[in-house]
Amino acid sequence: MKDEFEQIRDEIPYSSPVKPVQLNLDSVFQFDCHPGVSCFNECCRSIDIQLTPYDIVRLKRHFDMDARDFVARYTVPFEMDHHGMPGLKLATKPGTTECVFLGEEGCTVYADRPSACRYYALGTMGVRKVGEAKVEDIYFVVQEPHCKGHEEPVRRTVAEYRRDQGVDLYDEMNRQWRDIVIKKRTSGPTIGAPSQRSMQLFDMCSYDMDSFREFIQSDGFRSVFDLSDAEIQALVEDEDALLQFAFRFLKQVLFGEFSIPRREAGVQARIQARKTIWNQRKEEMRRRYREEMERLQYEDEQQFSAEKRSTEQPQAQRKA
Ligand code: SF4
Ligand code: SF4
Repeated sequence: MKDEFEQIRDEIPYSSPVKPVQLNLDSVFQFDCHPGVSCFNECCRSIDIQLTPYDIVRLKRHFDMDARDFVARYTVPFEMDHHGMPGLKLATKPGTTECVFLGEEGCTVYADRPSACRYYALGTMGVRKVGEAKVEDIYFVVQEPHCKGHEEPVRRTVAEYRRDQGVDLYDEMNRQWRDIVIKKRTSGPTIGAPSQRSMQLFDMCSYDMDSFREFIQSDGFRSVFDLSDAEIQALVEDEDALLQFAFRFLKQVLFGEFSIPRREAGVQARIQARKTIWNQRKEEMRRRYREEMERLQYEDEQQFSAEKRSTEQPQAQRKA
């Protein structure tokens, strides 16, 4: 049976820049990019870049911005699957396809540029073989006509290129998230059709560490999850650790993969509180239904009386 890459490769249109060759970490390919190439910055003039959670953390830290402000200003939302899994793309300058961070001298956020920019001209994807739980990383070369980097005489293995671009850290920081996304995409209908609430949690745990930081300090969170003050404080002060914790939290909430200890009394109190709210909602629906039925019945009676009067009046007049 074909794996995911083989299936995708077979569907690549003949004009695609993706070279239909699957690479691994030891594969050697020829490419280099530096300010001396004639196409310098060409690739930043027409972008379609999906951002990962760690991209957001690095970039919002670069500008010392709140995650919510960064996302509102520099990203564009999109849906990663047909269930509306929220994704973010890097914004372009108004009316252009040019990256919002492209300056006169090149990338203005180079030290914190997104993972996709670091990888280019390599592409990567996580592939889960049929019947296997493990996600395997595969790589491929993207060769676009405008990119002259393929003519540079530098040959490196994929592993060396990733190290040179500093992308190892990005992959490590995003690994759990990537697994969550793949699992959600490939799971059956129960997991695949998430509630609006779980999508909101996914959004916060993926792209908004400032809200998540507030969340883990809230009474609601602390009544359910059994973390000491010191553990909470450590997460509050270390955003990278907070991001990894957010992914664990997401796995626990979405897939029931328990790794964060819970307070049984808090869990029961929460279940009870939910039951109370649910019962109140049900009672409210019943009340509205009763009122609606009474209203319809009253209108029917009114109409019936009016019709009766209109047929009785002419008869009375005829008798008179
Ligand atoms: S060589 Fe390729 S990656 Fe480098 S600037 Fe040119 S188009 Fe961009
Ligand atoms: S973030 Fe930097 S490297 Fe990436 S597309 Fe924008 S300008 Fe280019």
